[in-house]
Amino acid sequence: MTEFTMTKDADGVAIITWDLPGKSMNVLTLTGAEQLDAAVTDALADEAVKGIVITSAKDSFAAGMDLNVLAGMKEQGAEGVFDGVMSLHHMLRKIERAGMDPKTLKGGKPIAAALPGTAMGIGLELPLACHRIFAADNPKARIGLPEIMVGIFPGSGGTTRLVRKLGVMGASQYLLQGKSVDPKAAQKAGLIDEVAADPVAAAKDWVLKATDADILKPWDAKGYKMPGGAPYHPAGFQTFVGANAMVNGQTWGAFPAAKALLSAVYEGAMVPFDTALKIEARWFTNVIMNPSSGAMIRSLFLNKEALEKGANRPDAPDQKVKKLGVIGAGMMGAGIALVSAQAGIEVVLIDQKQEAADKGKAYAESYFDKGIKRGKSTPEKAQAILSKITATTDYSLLSDADLIIEAVFEDVGVKAEVTKAVEAVVPEDCIFATNTSTLPISDLAKASKRAEQFIGIHFFSPVEKMALVEIIKGRETGNRAVAKALDYVRQIRKTPIVVNDARFFYANRCIIPYLNEGARMVAEGVSPALVDNAARLLGMPVGPLQLIDETSIDLAVKIAKATKAALGDKYPADNKPVDDLMVALYDQGRLGRKSNAGFYSYDEKGKRTGLWEGLSGLTPTLDEQPDVTEVQHRLMFAQVLEAVRALEEGVLEDIREGDVGAILGWGFAPWSGGPFSWLDILGAPYAAERCDQLAQKFGPRFNCPDLLREMAAKGQSFYGRFGDQKAA
Ligand code: NAD
Repeated sequence: MTEFTMTKDADGVAIITWDLPGKSMNVLTLTGAEQLDAAVTDALADEAVKGIVITSAKDSFAAGMDLNVLAGMKEQGAEGVFDGVMSLHHMLRKIERAGMDPKTLKGGKPIAAALPGTAMGIGLELPLACHRIFAADNPKARIGLPEIMVGIFPGSGGTTRLVRKLGVMGASQYLLQGKSVDPKAAQKAGLIDEVAADPVAAAKDWVLKATDADILKPWDAKGYKMPGGAPYHPAGFQTFVGANAMVNGQTWGAFPAAKALLSAVYEGAMVPFDTALKIEARWFTNVIMNPSSGAMIRSLFLNKEALEKGANRPDAPDQKVKKLGVIGAGMMGAGIALVSAQAGIEVVLIDQKQEAADKGKAYAESYFDKGIKRGKSTPEKAQAILSKITATTDYSLLSDADLIIEAVFEDVGVKAEVTKAVEAVVPEDCIFATNTSTLPISDLAKASKRAEQFIGIHFFSPVEKMALVEIIKGRETGNRAVAKALDYVRQIRKTPIVVNDARFFYANRCIIPYLNEGARMVAEGVSPALVDNAARLLGMPVGPLQLIDETSIDLAVKIAKATKAALGDKYPADNKPVDDLMVALYDQGRLGRKSNAGFYSYDEKGKRTGLWEGLSGLTPTLDEQPDVTEVQHRLMFAQVLEAVRALEEGVLEDIREGDVGAILGWGFAPWSGGPFSWLDILGAPYAAERCDQLAQKFGPRFNCPDLLREMAAKGQSFYGRFGDQKAA
């Protein structure tokens, strides 16, 4: 298969065109790399060729590396990865040096990249090795190096080149945060050189005029100095100290790729360019061989995308939503209306009073006002989206709706009334969804005449920020309702998981034990700072105590009461210290962030100022504090054992959903790839042994689930056993 083709024109310009057969986007394969290398070698050796333009036949330039290449290298061990990466470095270095005399640095052939659109990952690393980068004026195109977001870093010279081009500070947002920008912003930032109406023509013009000086990279010229200074320069020293502190402040040392990236940058900055590439390759190999990167790529790239594309969608015709009714214009309803209108869906937003409905729409208005102030939207665009939301009290406007999402008070009676009122006006085939977070879907469906068309679509707050949507099947929910929910989630560009109906569904079921375990430790006398910091050191975005403050202490008290009422004698006795502590805080009016008082203290502006000193008056303090790993294991096992139980009970049908849902839903340590990936990294035998120890010391909530015990005995892993298939 031909992935790169070359034509040579009468002006002496060789145009190398990337066009991966059968794909809408280019990704670099091993074959592709060989073909590109061969084409460049041929053009450099051909006396008739004066310069080279590398471009793509597709709308975009390239999306990145074919992940199979990385997987293939990894199978050959660390040496295989290192050798594979070094061969890419040699190829890109050949482009950069372009046949110039190594002594005089003269006589090379100009090579330009012409990007018709998006250029990500190796899709930008290859252009960075060229002498000039031209991009089409395509505001939808994204240019960047997103590797860090899936647990790796740019390892084909992107790290070394970008730091030498922009300096550590300039490059940091692209390397450390994976930020991508449109071509104009990329030009402004110095990632690319020119934005042109016809990038190939502009690149051709340039290569025909370029001089020896034009094609010599600054780092290959004598006297090169890194922008902002290298580590031993006074300014550079400060930059590196600052960057190191910033990265560790943000990641708490829990992300191997961020640490390795910093090391590659720091060590690389002190040596000549070619040695820096070798250092980059060593750290890249280190990261690839770390199980974290494989797990992150699997969950945050491959499986996230598979779920978004409908991996678990039942076979049903297209169910795209045209008109959505949102009932309840409170916090959740307002957010749901906003994201749906943004996706181009007509929305009828209903509340009991017109003022309440208007307030819901006003939420979208203020969202856009902020966007306009930040230059992210325009009044025209905002108006076009806002005009899709009709705020009303009139149910008859739902007569042609094809999906309803109910987000009224969390009350069975109110929800039943709304269900009946809606069903009286909507078309027979309309799907009805509830956004309940705690009430069983099958119970709520009893109010419906059409239980097979009744489903849970559970959003997380704030709706416009949170990427996960949990779809819950009631006992009688039919396939068309599931397909409808999935097609809707795809329209609003979020990531769905589909689970079965059970108390707290999946995400909340796992979060609650995490919060409880944190509070329980405080009730036992463990230092609150140790609890929250142990969680941050695990890579959790927020410690359990802070999260309780965010979600509110009155909600915790309410949920505990409702659970106790529902479970009766089966309510776990070891929850008592947690409940008592919550009630004690509640009684003092410490409801969390919303009352500016909770586990933490806050200033008048709502900024956290530190843990509340009065907490020690409510709880004992252990003379001997536990080891941080023990605290971490309690916090991790509390979550992952619930995930395993959800799988055992059939609430989860697919471990991919369990992993992706955990990271996107509650920020479960992303470096691990999710609860099942974390258990796989630990290994089932060790995980089972650790359960036994924790259960013996802290109680039956840590009892090893039968499934994990069986897997430990058989030496199985979750991904080995359940693979990419449903567990059922
Ligand atoms: P909210 O109190 O902010 O909003 C509820 C809205 O429903 C109010 O505007 C109220 O006037 C309206 N309402 C009540 N009865 C109505 C009726 N009969 N007809 C029309 N409108 C009516 O509540 P919220 O936080 O937006 O939660 C709504 C639902 O979403 C609940 O079921 C809740 O469990 C669920 N949920 C909440 C969150 C969260 O973080 N707040 C997260 C996920 C799910």
